[in-house]
Amino acid sequence: DEKGEVLARVIVGGGMGRTPTLGSVIQEALPWQHLPTYLDAVLRVYNRYGRRDNAYKARIKILVKAIGAEAFARQVDEEWTLERDGIATVTQAELDRASAAFTDPDAPERPATDAGFDAKRASDPAFARWVSRCVRGHKRPGYRAVTLSLKPTGVAPGDISCEQMDALADLADRYSFGELRVSHEQNVVLADVALADLYELWLGARAHGLATPNIGLLTDIICCPGGDFCSLANAKSIPIAQAIQEAFENLDYLYDVGDLELNISGCMNSCGHHHVGHIGILGVDKTGSEWYQVSIGGSQGNQTSLGDVIGPSFAAEEVPDVVTKLVDTYVEHRTPEERFIDTVRRIGMAPFKARVYGESTKKAEVTHG
Ligand code: SF4
Repeated sequence: DEKGEVLARVIVGGGMGRTPTLGSVIQEALPWQHLPTYLDAVLRVYNRYGRRDNAYKARIKILVKAIGAEAFARQVDEEWTLERDGIATVTQAELDRASAAFTDPDAPERPATDAGFDAKRASDPAFARWVSRCVRGHKRPGYRAVTLSLKPTGVAPGDISCEQMDALADLADRYSFGELRVSHEQNVVLADVALADLYELWLGARAHGLATPNIGLLTDIICCPGGDFCSLANAKSIPIAQAIQEAFENLDYLYDVGDLELNISGCMNSCGHHHVGHIGILGVDKTGSEWYQVSIGGSQGNQTSLGDVIGPSFAAEEVPDVVTKLVDTYVEHRTPEERFIDTVRRIGMAPFKARVYGESTKKAEVTHG
């Protein structure tokens, strides 16, 4: 807040799965000291009134939906009065003790700019391209955060070989204080790389197939294991991701299309986060065959939204063409500053649907149901 105090906004009842729901804010400004007792009150309310009798409904989101977010918040506040300021309230000493386990790396101070980096970026277009997609700013001058893509075409999204893991560990040791993080987008982040080391890091990553410059682009697909590996699947996911990547191999076109998140799940459990993909693809089982339902308009982040299904589902071989038509529609309608998701929000579903189904809409409805 304006006094510099750390406050928490508490959101409950969000989730994906078969009942996708956006969370509801029940606390706008909770002082950090009270987080454990307040969250305990949330769990106690759920434990008392939630559907613990039914495996499919045993979720906070189901209870919040049933009684409403306001009623849920009231119940939590009542419960919280019993334990507020109690023994689980976090003291400054406890915060300091826990914080000691999360120290920043002992990074030497560096100049904010690096002439060698600037020169390489100016003279090597492939390096410049990688920097534009895979390198982000850093709070510390002279450092950057780097995302190494695990999404080259021809490899299951997020897969990495043991040789690549060894190479990655070496790169992390050499360039990022021995630390790397796996992102839920199924890539790897080196969080503290010196600006002056970026070119060497890029060369090393590229030698091991870890420098595909497609972070945030259409081929940076989040994809669950699907029917190739998961016994819960309705349909395969990985071959769909690979077919889409092959259809969009042209990097110049991908860069022109710009930021676009495409997520694929092999069943309603939504491990591939299809509900919040700008384009979401869900594997469905119809009379023993694999079909794919497509949605658009989902988004993670500060402007979270759930996608809407565009219509009847598709056979596997139709999916790349459907994605192409969705992208073509965006390219035709976009304004210069709009991303795919912005255009969907502005013009709505109809133009995308018309392009995908066209005259065959009725036929598709009859065929696929
Ligand atoms: S979404 Fe379904 S198919 Fe994919 S990993 Fe999760 S449970 Fe398995």
